[in-house]
Amino acid sequence: MSDPLVVTVAPTGADTTRERTPHVPYEPEEIAAEARASAAAGAAVIHIHVRDAEGRPTMDLGRYRETVAAVREAAPGLLINLTTAGSWSMEEADRLAVVSLRPDLCSFDAGTLNFGDGVFLNPPPFLRVLAEACLEHGVKPELECFDVSHVEFCLRVAEEGLLRSPMWFQFVMGIPGGIAATPRNLLHLAGGVPAGSSWSAIGVGRAQLPMTSLAIAAGGHVRVGMEDNVMISRGVLATSNAEFVERAVETGRLAGRPAATPEQARAIVLA
Ligand code: ZN
Repeated sequence: MSDPLVVTVAPTGADTTRERTPHVPYEPEEIAAEARASAAAGAAVIHIHVRDAEGRPTMDLGRYRETVAAVREAAPGLLINLTTAGSWSMEEADRLAVVSLRPDLCSFDAGTLNFGDGVFLNPPPFLRVLAEACLEHGVKPELECFDVSHVEFCLRVAEEGLLRSPMWFQFVMGIPGGIAATPRNLLHLAGGVPAGSSWSAIGVGRAQLPMTSLAIAAGGHVRVGMEDNVMISRGVLATSNAEFVERAVETGRLAGRPAATPEQARAIVLA
């Protein structure tokens, strides 16, 4: 018997620009409106990145505070997950600072990888400090794994006592430089998750639908939204993040996994 399906919406991200889709939300009130519609469609968690006035990714704490307040007002039950990446090129101190805002969750990018033409640096000393900050502020780390060795790193850090079990993994499938979005790869990653811990999957671009559908069938959870994909079908832009949420919720329903309420999600994700 699988758990109800936890659907996370990631409405903005770092790399999705207005040139790619005019529908990506940048401003706090735009993100809040997408949060409200996504929650109504069945999302239980929102993963938040913020942008500056020019639409560039920023780790500005004021901007995070403003956005979190707007989202909490628009969608009170939604669990809040703040990025500690911002984009692949932010300073470590700025990445750590968002943990002090005490969201429900924050991303924990569990290893260094090539990211397109760049290098997304996540050295072990930084990750141990991030894990300690999460423990200190009572924030659940979402263990973003872009490859197999990232899962193994998390297990090692858990043994050191810096990550608490049960853990919450997020598998990022199909970043250029990360693990490819194939069924075999996703099932291999899921097989490395210790008993009692839970996992969710992201598929980038056209991999979103197959990877999330497989995750649902295999007992995992899903993340969808414009951070990962802007097309709802071939050549058709989604006009709202809620469209992706609706599709994930419907896929879950057909598979016998109704969408988790925020209360159920809290029990699964923050366990
Ligand atoms: Zn993100």
